[in-house]
Amino acid sequence: MRDFSYVRPDAAAEAVRLVARSADATFVAGGTDLLNLMKDGAEDHALVVDISRLPLAGIEESGGRLRIGAMARMADVALHPVVPKRLPLLSQALLASASPQVRTMATIGGNLLQRTRCWYFRGTGFACNKREPGSGCAALEGRSRWHAVLGGGDHCIAVHPSDLAVALRALDATVHTLGPDGARTVSLADFYREPGDTPHIDNALRHGELITAVEVPLPPAGTHQRYLKLRDRATFEFAVVSVAAVLRTRGRIVEEARLAFGGIATQPWRSAEAEAALRGKPLTERNIAAAGRVLVRDAQPREDNEFKVELVQRALQDVLGRYTGGSR
Ligand code: SF4
Repeated sequence: MRDFSYVRPDAAAEAVRLVARSADATFVAGGTDLLNLMKDGAEDHALVVDISRLPLAGIEESGGRLRIGAMARMADVALHPVVPKRLPLLSQALLASASPQVRTMATIGGNLLQRTRCWYFRGTGFACNKREPGSGCAALEGRSRWHAVLGGGDHCIAVHPSDLAVALRALDATVHTLGPDGARTVSLADFYREPGDTPHIDNALRHGELITAVEVPLPPAGTHQRYLKLRDRATFEFAVVSVAAVLRTRGRIVEEARLAFGGIATQPWRSAEAEAALRGKPLTERNIAAAGRVLVRDAQPREDNEFKVELVQRALQDVLGRYTGGSR
């Protein structure tokens, strides 16, 4: 790791100014991902701007929404009084993430911006278009067990690793930012990018733009919420497949189903077609299975990760099946 300069400003505008004026500057919050990336040589920055002194850790409920400051720690959000009660999906996803030690240090903004765990990206001896644009993608001909079956292409098939992002996608969250051109709001649906031919660009942030908060609409009382994460070991492990569901029913009829998926796609994945396959219909095993088939209709698995196509359908059945009342 090369030497770098370090500063810790007190104001968000100053932090933005410092990063924006230098192409190889970056922000650091909890540091649980960035420092590993720099030690591994996957990222290289001349200036690191520490945002831990910025007043961005508040969590406030107002007007039917929860606003979570970007510097709020994952553990504090998971256990905040409003979250397990009104947003259990969010709490479940956070508590399924990383380890207690990491959750105590890592921030909400940092979690959303963590880089892929593709080992070819983090191991610098391999071709990787995300780390070094135009160098190729070692995963295409290599080991792809943890890679995407949806949203990939010829340039990158890495999955986004965040459980939080999957839950927030199902919850229709928005991201608030501050950049050199001022503040703006981006829906999570528009925040992450499929790799296309620019896989080195993960999201909609511009250089020097800082996440300041995440805002989540609180679902009406009686809405079912559940996060299921399937992984190779019980803790400190990324999802092989995950499902986040927000479900509203009237009797047995589905009024609204918001379904997001992790581990299977290059970004936290929503399938409007799978949701439509359930809307207005009785919640039965058969209809859930039909929605699952629609979800994976365009999947492009490789030999190593073909199992995900069936696994994600079974996971969906597991998540929604508990609300069918035994209807087949
Ligand atoms: Fe790099 Fe993406 Fe290929 Fe992994 S899948 S090696 S991150 S280009």
